Amino acid sequence: MDNSDRNNDKNVDFIRQIIAEDIKNGKHSAPVTRFPPEPNGFLHIGHAKSICLNFGIAEENNACCHLRFDDTNPSKEEAAYVESIKKDVQWLGYEWGDNLFFASDYFDRLYDYAVELIRQDKAYVCDLSAEEIREYRGTLTETGKESPYRNRAIEENIALFHEMKEGKFETGSHVLRAKIDMASPNLNMRDPVIYRILKVDHHRTGSKWCIYPMYDYTHCLSDAIEGITHSLCTLEFEDHRPLYDWFLDTLKTPCHPRQIEFARLNLTYTVMSKRKILQLVTGCHVTGWNDPRMLTISGLRRRGYTPASIRNFCSEIGIGKKESWIDMGVLENSVRNDLNDTAPRVMGVLDPLKVIITNYPPEESEEIEAQNHPQKPEMGTRRIPFSREIYIERSDFMEDPPKKFFRLGPGREVRLRYAYFITCVSVIKDKDTGVVREIHCTYDPTTYGGNAPDGRKVKGTIHWVSAAHALSCEVRLYDRLFAVENPDADKEVDFKEHLNTDSLTVLTNCLVEPSLRQTAAGTSLQFERQGYFCLDIEDSKPDHLVFNRTVGLRDSWAKAQG
Ligand code: ATP
Ligand code: MG
Repeated sequence: MDNSDRNNDKNVDFIRQIIAEDIKNGKHSAPVTRFPPEPNGFLHIGHAKSICLNFGIAEENNACCHLRFDDTNPSKEEAAYVESIKKDVQWLGYEWGDNLFFASDYFDRLYDYAVELIRQDKAYVCDLSAEEIREYRGTLTETGKESPYRNRAIEENIALFHEMKEGKFETGSHVLRAKIDMASPNLNMRDPVIYRILKVDHHRTGSKWCIYPMYDYTHCLSDAIEGITHSLCTLEFEDHRPLYDWFLDTLKTPCHPRQIEFARLNLTYTVMSKRKILQLVTGCHVTGWNDPRMLTISGLRRRGYTPASIRNFCSEIGIGKKESWIDMGVLENSVRNDLNDTAPRVMGVLDPLKVIITNYPPEESEEIEAQNHPQKPEMGTRRIPFSREIYIERSDFMEDPPKKFFRLGPGREVRLRYAYFITCVSVIKDKDTGVVREIHCTYDPTTYGGNAPDGRKVKGTIHWVSAAHALSCEVRLYDRLFAVENPDADKEVDFKEHLNTDSLTVLTNCLVEPSLRQTAAGTSLQFERQGYFCLDIEDSKPDHLVFNRTVGLRDSWAKAQG
């Protein structure tokens, strides 16, 4: 793979600095990182930040990044999510090779480690209810209260834990807790639960287990088992680090990875939690996890975002230690920049207005040579048909145009992109509504290719398609899914109240040049003067083309917002 667009030296963040030091000092010969998603939903752009960091560091060091599914909560997890996550990581351009792991692969070892904690008198079976455990925990200002079961004998704990595993107890009746410190100022250290009873089948282990380990316990041990050197996570885990270290120190694991926290990605006009994204899907506010308005990786892919644009975005925003907000415009800009380089140019008319070129012979047509990318001759040319009847964009004509309008109006002359100059000679309107139905123009045959031999100039160039040859298609225009910058800001108001009711506009009468007949689904193109579009991978069919607008040519939001 081409790494030229990946992080370069000017962009060395504090985590990369720590890793470089560790290698220089001989603490590690190479980093081993991991990306640890829970398979309870599709990945989103926030996960991309973590993927680019973990896999990026591995790649830069010729080292490995593990893909590990943190599958400890069978009630919310599904095999389908595992597949979607694998697909998304690969699509972003990363490979885990042989290093595909599941926390559930470690269930036996985790059980043994728990028994070891009990033997050390560092864990106990507690019969308090979840509610009681919460009450006993105390608050930031009040120390916690010790559970009456805290001083059970070691052998009794071992027997009870075994019985928990054998399914002897009801869900919720018993838990295994670490025995740490109920007076710790850090609430995570107040005898956290490490195992709970859940009589639910697991997508990988089936009905083998009815007790499942908790995240904090599982995560550090999975890291240690895999020989991870640097366990990179988001800032909300900072307070969990003492617990991470406590488990590994107490169990004296041969490997003790270093947990380092970084600021998560917060992006305006979106929500970034799988739980909330799931509500959008189940509540049918969007068409699915891959709705092109969604900031899921699969939604972005369907929308026309490229892997490079997402990697570049992650590299640009960088890795820091302070929470911050990134404007959605930054993400949009990164795909605009990437597609500007790579997307072939074509002509498409979204709101067609018929133009009859009265001095062009009926029945005749010709093929006009057009460049696929004006700045990149190596991208070649194509031929597009031209004939007496064409369509232009309705907004490129005004019956009574102001002075600064350089497009078509009665008596005005413009250039048709790659073709001829035309002059508007008359306007045909609908008798009842007064709406312009078609316009009649003449063309100047000497202006082929867009220049007049007499040197006369026109101010405007407009796009067009030949009426007889154009392909009809559907175009979906997307706006931001939420109408406000931070839909989560007000805890009193449900984030769904802020959904933008105009986030999707479907245009069904659009026309594109016939060169697009064989276009493969997922292909990105620039419709000249309009923006970047991508043939929809779900709904587009050879006899019914559907294009998604990925992004406009300019940042229309920045402009509209002044
Ligand atoms: P969500 O709240 O969306 O469910 P999560 O953290 O519960 O996110 P996981 O599947 O546990 O989802 O996340 C896998 C990894 O991705 C974790 O290491 C997590 O820290 C990281 N991650 C999740 N969201 C973001 C974000 N917005 N920015 C950076 N990293 C993130
Ligand atoms: Mg999580």
